[in-house]
Amino acid sequence: PFYKAGWVPARLTRDNKITYGALTGDGDEYEAVMCGKVYHDAETDAELPAVGDWVALEVGGEDAEHVIRARLPRQTCLSRKMAGKSTEEQVIAANVDVVVVVTDAGTDFSLRRMERYFTIIARSGAKAVVLVNKSDLYEKEDNEAAAEEIRALNPAADVHITCATKKRSLAVLRQYLTKGRTVTLIGSSGVGKSSVLNQLLGDEYQWVDEVNELTGKGRHTTTARELIILPKGGVLIDNPGIKEVQMWTNEVILREGFADIEALSLQCQFGDCKHGKDKGCAIRAAMEAGELDAGRMEGFLKLDEEIEKLRRSQKKRQ
Ligand code: GDP
Ligand code: ZN
Repeated sequence: PFYKAGWVPARLTRDNKITYGALTGDGDEYEAVMCGKVYHDAETDAELPAVGDWVALEVGGEDAEHVIRARLPRQTCLSRKMAGKSTEEQVIAANVDVVVVVTDAGTDFSLRRMERYFTIIARSGAKAVVLVNKSDLYEKEDNEAAAEEIRALNPAADVHITCATKKRSLAVLRQYLTKGRTVTLIGSSGVGKSSVLNQLLGDEYQWVDEVNELTGKGRHTTTARELIILPKGGVLIDNPGIKEVQMWTNEVILREGFADIEALSLQCQFGDCKHGKDKGCAIRAAMEAGELDAGRMEGFLKLDEEIEKLRRSQKKRQ
C-alpha cells in the first residue's frame, strides 16, 4: 500500500525553496520539509515538488517536523525552459486544469507571443482559455477581430472578451472554476491578471489571514500562499514563476527579431565582445561597411542590456 499510518494526502500551496506549504483535506496548512528520498528522486529526474502537486504528508507530533514523504504523479505540468539552457525546464505549477492567458486587442496583442503561450499550455496538458481584456479601451470590432485571430491560431482554445474592472464580464470564468478544478493566469505585466484575480476572489476572501493560519513549527514565513481555494471550491494558482513565463518567452521573441545580428556576433573575435569599441567586432564592422542599420544595432545592444538586467534580478530572487 502506498500510504502508511500517519500519512495524509496534501496539496502544495507555497514553495519556499526549503519548505513547502501543504494543505490537507481538513483545511489545515502545514509547513513541510521534503524527506531525503523525495529530494534525491528530484535530483535524478529534475522534478522537485511544485505548487499544485499532491503529496503524501507525514504530520509531525509535538516537536517533530512535517515531512513530505512522496510526490504523487502529476495530471498536468506547466513548465518553462530556462533561459540559455534549452534542455532544462522549470516546473511552474503542477496539476493545473485550465491556463487563462490574459491579453488585449491593442498594445499587448501579439499572435506570435500567443502562439508561444499555446505551445507551453499544450505541452502542460491543460486547457487553454484566452481573455481579450480591457475591452472598454478598444472598439468592439477590434476586440472581436483580435478574438477571431486568436481562435484561428488555436481552435481548441476558448476565447472571451472581458473587462476586468467590471465584475460581471468575468462571470464567463466561473465555468472553469468548478469544484476541484485548478486554474492559473498568465500574460504580460499590466494586462489585468491581478484585477481578474481580485474580482474572482471577491471581498469574502482574505489572502493575508490565510497565510497566518500556517501550522509551521516555530518557523515564520513571509511568502504568500500561491494556491488559493475559492469559496465555491475552485482552485487558483498565482505564483511568481507564472508571472515570469512572459519574461522568458519575450526574450526569445525579441532575440528572434535580431537573428541576423545574433549570427554576426558569433563571428566577433572575443566571446565576451560588448560590440562597442572591442577589437575584432563583427557587428560594428558590418555597420561600418553599411551592411547593418545603425538603429537596429542600437536596438540589439539595448536588448542585450535588458536581458542581462532580467537575469541578474532573477538570480537575486533565487
Ligand atoms: P497585471 O500586471 O497583469 O496583474 O495587471 P493589473 O491587474 O495590475 O492591471 C494593470 C492596470 O490595468 C490596472 O491599473 C488595472 O486597473 C487596469 N485594468 C485591468 N483590467 C482592465 C480593464 O479591463 N479595463 C481597463 N480600462 N483597465 C484595466
Ligand atoms: Zn562584437
